[in-house]
Amino acid sequence: VDPKREKLFALYSDATVLYHHILVNTDTGEAALAYATQRNLNTTLLDTFQIGFAPQQRDLLITFFKEKQTDFQLLRQSGLFIENDDGTLRDRFVGRLMFPIRDEQGRVIAFSGRILQVAENQPKYLNSPETDLFNKRDVLFNFDLAKSEIRKAKRVILFEGFMDVIAAFQAGVKNGVASMGTSLTNEQLYHLRRATDQLVVCYDGDAPGMKATNRVIELLKDDQRFNLSIVTLPEQLDPDEYVKKYGSEQFQNEVTNSLETAPAFRLHFLKQNRNLDNEQDKIAYINDALQELVLVPSAVERDVYLNQLSEELHVSYTALVQQLQQLLKKTT
Ligand code: ATP
Ligand code: MN
Ligand code: MN
Ligand code: MN
Repeated sequence: VDPKREKLFALYSDATVLYHHILVNTDTGEAALAYATQRNLNTTLLDTFQIGFAPQQRDLLITFFKEKQTDFQLLRQSGLFIENDDGTLRDRFVGRLMFPIRDEQGRVIAFSGRILQVAENQPKYLNSPETDLFNKRDVLFNFDLAKSEIRKAKRVILFEGFMDVIAAFQAGVKNGVASMGTSLTNEQLYHLRRATDQLVVCYDGDAPGMKATNRVIELLKDDQRFNLSIVTLPEQLDPDEYVKKYGSEQFQNEVTNSLETAPAFRLHFLKQNRNLDNEQDKIAYINDALQELVLVPSAVERDVYLNQLSEELHVSYTALVQQLQQLLKKTT
């Protein structure tokens, strides 16, 4: 064991307990608790995820640790504070609902704080900086709790945000994780692979979410480790909003019965914003779709999509096959 790391763990543990206490037991936390409640974060969820509140006060945490006579260098390196010009420290997180980020062993190693009211001059979420404990590329939110559920369900569901992981958890979908506000990394895939080879991506149904899904598909292209499937939620909803609107049962149904393969998602994506009654649009879509199918290694799989395209677009199957063969020749 590394004594410095152990001390940092203790620091984060203390901060977690303090922020959580402020949220659930104090008047200072009242507005934040109302916000949490409005977001369907009930008492059980607040406890399970150790959610807290950092009040609108720049010296709460620093005073707490000074009174405990915590080593100054340790505080400086913890990522919990910002250094003033005169070398003193002030709290990094103020006026934010605090979500502890846990490592695979369940120890808190960072925070992400959400402001209660989104404003222009402040980021909606503020994350801890990278420290000796926190390497963003390595961490998957909720992997510690989800791991056994992933093994049970034989698959993992990847969400965009941790509010989505928590909403899914509350809806009974407990095999969910999220990357930490960045694109999925190879390090995260490495950790996931130890638990399963079935990866379900359920990002937000909006344009940024679909773009991020495309990036996962790109990252996993030629990767034999995972079998990838995609859930696209309707009406641009994110999982949290979907659960709120349609309920747990329908959400469970979405993430188990509405799975698409990567090529099927790509075809849907390419069809977006195109009017298939317009011939130019239709031809452009067919060309894009065939370019996409060139990338599908299995001839049987390609055939499935060709049949679908033929039916959907009222184009002869033979013509589609012919054109695909030409494209295949060009690329080999
Ligand atoms: P909420 O429901 O609270 O608005 P969200 O999870 O739906 O949050 P999105 O805007 O969909 O938020 O962003 C998805 C994820 O991207 C967030 O969960 C967070 O991890 C990350 N993120 C979003 N905005 C920021 C930001 N300003 N700084 C850092 N990370 C961010
Ligand atoms: Mn989003
Ligand atoms: Mn979202
Ligand atoms: Mn959301």
